[in-house]
Amino acid sequence: MAKSLQTVMNLQMDERDHKRVTAFPSLRPKAAPKLEIKNVSKSFTSGEGRICALSDINLTIHDGEFTCLVGPSGCGKSTLLHLIAELETADQGEIKLHSRKEEPTKERGERLIVFQESALFPWLTVVENVAFGLKLKGIEYKERVEMAMEYLNLVRLAKFAQCFIHELSGGMKQRVALARALVMNPELLLMDEPFAALDIQTRENLGRELEEIWRKTGKTIIFVTHNVEEAVNLGDRVVLFSGRPGTVRQEYQLAVDRPRQKENPLLKDLINVISNDFKRFSESLINEAIG
Ligand code: ADP
Ligand code: MG
Repeated sequence: MAKSLQTVMNLQMDERDHKRVTAFPSLRPKAAPKLEIKNVSKSFTSGEGRICALSDINLTIHDGEFTCLVGPSGCGKSTLLHLIAELETADQGEIKLHSRKEEPTKERGERLIVFQESALFPWLTVVENVAFGLKLKGIEYKERVEMAMEYLNLVRLAKFAQCFIHELSGGMKQRVALARALVMNPELLLMDEPFAALDIQTRENLGRELEEIWRKTGKTIIFVTHNVEEAVNLGDRVVLFSGRPGTVRQEYQLAVDRPRQKENPLLKDLINVISNDFKRFSESLINEAIG
């Protein structure tokens, strides 16, 4: 490990049951809490019996923070996003969103998910797809097209506004999905492995674009991935989960300068540290399972 990282890495045992690792002292003061997840558990009943997908999750997400959730397949990452988006309800615990609005509302599009496969409408053009949610909000045609074009500009797809979805590459479809979510001005942007189906080059390019868009918009983003490198390149914080039942095992605060350069040796060290922990937790689970 590079000496620079060793000297600044400060391992703190948290009062709670998981550890928190700070790679650097924070570069900016902590913003106000945006989302508080307290003692959340969720089980499902299936053919195999009762599955505990999440057990006693505690997390606070701050306003404008870019948080990456990392963990093996089946550890409850998507379930947690569905609970935050209110697509599912928790068996236990509480999820509290601190809204920008004075009065809490149940407005559509408060907490939006961008999925791995963009669920765009094939019968609508790119600009109509982006403007669709605005129509449901009652915004007039001219204004919604203007707003949609503004966000298509942001994701660098304005030229493709009149195309249909089948005319776009996988990366372009995910950018349309991102524009469609952002145009709704959500309190929280939840991203569930949005680049997982793309080739490595497209994935890296989109990662850099997302970092830039996040910087411009100041959105609070919760980004799920099982790719440690992607999480370290993007996150202010990486939260490592382990499975069966899904729990938070460790948190890493990554106050590394942005825009992040792939060649930065500190990023490489962080990727190594987190990948090793990821492997260690996965192995201990396998050992427990085989007794
Ligand atoms: P991840 O996104 O980390 O891969 P999921 O949140 O999709 O994990 O799933 C966590 C666990 O919960 C898995 O064992 C999965 O099979 C189970 N699960 C998720 N959703 C359901 C559901 N609707 N019904 C039954 N089991 C589910
Ligand atoms: Mg998932």
